[in-house]
Amino acid sequence: MEQKRSKTTRKRKKRRVNPIVHILKALGTLLLSVFLILIITASIFGTVLTIYVMNFADSTTSVELEKRTESNVTRFLYDNPDYDEETDEPLDQYKLYYAIRNENRHFVWADLDQIPQYVQDAFVYTEDERFYSHDGVDFKSTFAAIVFSIIPIRDRGGASTITAQTIKNLTGDNATKGVAGIERKLREAFRSVNMEKTYTKDVILESYLNIVPQGTKQYEIIGVQAAANFYFGKDVSELDLAEAACLAGMNNAPADNNPIDSIENNNIRRKYCLDHMLKAGAISGQEYNEAINEKLQLAGNFDYSSATVYEEEMEEQGMTDWYLDAAIEEAISRIADESGTSYKDAQTELYENGYNVYCNVDIDMQRKVEKAMLDPTNFTTYDMDPEEDTLWSDFICMDYKGNVKAVVGSRSEKTSIRGYNPATTGKRSPGSCIKPIASYSPALDQDLITMTSLYNDKPLREQENPDGTKSQWPVNYSEDGLSGNWSYKDLFTYQMLLKSLNTMPAQLVDKLTPAYCYNFLKTKLDVNSLTDDESDYAAMTVGSLGMSLEELVGAYMIFGNGGKKYDVSFVYKIEDASGNVVYEKNDGYKQAISDSTAYIMNRMMQYVINDKEGTGRYAKLKKTDLVGKTGTSEKWQDLNFVGCTPDYVSGIWIGYQDPETIPTNDYQNIGAIWKNIFGDIADSEEHKSFDDTFPMPDTVVKVDFCTRTGNIATNCSSRQTGYFKASNMPENCYGGH
Ligand SMILES: [Zn+2]
Repeated sequence: MEQKRSKTTRKRKKRRVNPIVHILKALGTLLLSVFLILIITASIFGTVLTIYVMNFADSTTSVELEKRTESNVTRFLYDNPDYDEETDEPLDQYKLYYAIRNENRHFVWADLDQIPQYVQDAFVYTEDERFYSHDGVDFKSTFAAIVFSIIPIRDRGGASTITAQTIKNLTGDNATKGVAGIERKLREAFRSVNMEKTYTKDVILESYLNIVPQGTKQYEIIGVQAAANFYFGKDVSELDLAEAACLAGMNNAPADNNPIDSIENNNIRRKYCLDHMLKAGAISGQEYNEAINEKLQLAGNFDYSSATVYEEEMEEQGMTDWYLDAAIEEAISRIADESGTSYKDAQTELYENGYNVYCNVDIDMQRKVEKAMLDPTNFTTYDMDPEEDTLWSDFICMDYKGNVKAVVGSRSEKTSIRGYNPATTGKRSPGSCIKPIASYSPALDQDLITMTSLYNDKPLREQENPDGTKSQWPVNYSEDGLSGNWSYKDLFTYQMLLKSLNTMPAQLVDKLTPAYCYNFLKTKLDVNSLTDDESDYAAMTVGSLGMSLEELVGAYMIFGNGGKKYDVSFVYKIEDASGNVVYEKNDGYKQAISDSTAYIMNRMMQYVINDKEGTGRYAKLKKTDLVGKTGTSEKWQDLNFVGCTPDYVSGIWIGYQDPETIPTNDYQNIGAIWKNIFGDIADSEEHKSFDDTFPMPDTVVKVDFCTRTGNIATNCSSRQTGYFKASNMPENCYGGH
């Protein structure tokens, strides 16, 4: 452009013309050029501005209005066992388990038809008298707001439409000054127009009235329902005109203008509101006079006893049970994981922002187990003076998808909320309960052994003791509590397991390597509390390590469901205050061992219960299939039993807070204690046999084996039913005996 102009000028210089004409022409050219430059600059600026504005239109226009639950109450719910979707019984689908109410934040949703017309009018005529006629943006006031945000003469906060205020309150997008203020106004304008296209005026007004700030200097009060409760001790439907004007009037600055902190300010604002209503013809002169002269009867506190929504929740406040504590912990962790915040922030979120947490609890079972654990007679198999009975115990039960149904963390009355729960966070020795999960399962899964492999009951090797002496390792524990010796007999796998001998697991761990067993526990069975120094021979063979009962019982689920390891959980769904699903448990699992391995392990563990020498024989149930394993730690400081019935896997631990030997003459009694706590519950379930819930996979062969050789019986006189993997069958017995 510049170049072109100067060329032209040069050409003209060659001709002789009148200087004045020359100057005028030059001036004209200059003016034209300046004009063109201005136009081009303006269109560039216009294009940039358009693109800029369109970006807002593209990215920020949608704000959704949803009916929200009471956002200051976090509720723990469980499935109502009597709810029947099919017959459509008039019963609630969920029952309330517990509620946590945020004492500083108050919010109760009211539907529009609960809110009297003059309450609606009071807000509309105070805040946005053209609400019913505009399309979301009141251009007059928006322009004014932009001007005043550039020239900040005074705060024009009240200039927004009700639609725009709703968006501001929902999104927290509330910049008022400078460029950010202009941007916000633009964004708000686009969103408002969009919202008016999506929702009716009634829906917008209902949202507005439910999220409008109505708080004092002390309390955060949101919406007209909570405000009616706090200021007048009434339901919003009971408010009169003066009270409506009191609430609507304070709106531009509730902390300054509410009637509790300043009745003088509120009186001015109440009059302002009534003036507007009168001017708009929403009320008569007589109504105006009555309302302006009415002396407000102020309450100034929250009384939710009149609001049905809170009645049942208030009753649920108080001591949590063991299950709830675990559900609260899990909910916090899930929220932290899903939102990427810290545990502490997630905890604040959960307690203050009105979540719904759906729990897996079987409330009937939970209450029964709680009761049974408190009953000392269920533990009397121990030689204990009741006065000195400080034996501790915990119990947990879950289904075969890892959904915890009941948990109890002690034998005494629970006295603290979210205190220590050994069942979920303890780290005690599982003893011999480690064997099925750390050595037998992986060995069977890799076809290293069958149910009738013969192993010699002998020590693995000599080891040096801390005092310098040498001894053979491992020893067996005998039933009378003495450290037993070795029989040096060949025994079948299932016999080693039912007698809980330590010698075969030691040989299996040796073959597999302790590191392999350790990784198997950690990666396949989610025993996450294990530390690297717990990966040695003693840990993997006899359970000289610490884990929680939750982890132990969770690992045993694979023996009743075909080898699948699901996440253990107390909570299956979490929703935020708007009903958005923050977390939902999926059906994902890890195939820890094959279904054939799981089935054969299950059949072998039935001997632990059913054999006359089985260490779990006292746990045998009257009506229901049970397979399981006892676990005694070194020096009889921990006794465990894990039992699998067709419906549940459950376990119990007993021991002292500071580990010491448990005084008893029969350590197998742990099975009896488990039965005292859980036997009746197990026997009352519908499924009596594993055939109903975990049928034999077609990769398993059921066939008699010879009890002399462990091979497949031919013409052998002594035989017994066995279960073998089709891929790893023993040879046929040579027979003739
Ligand atoms: Zn034979």
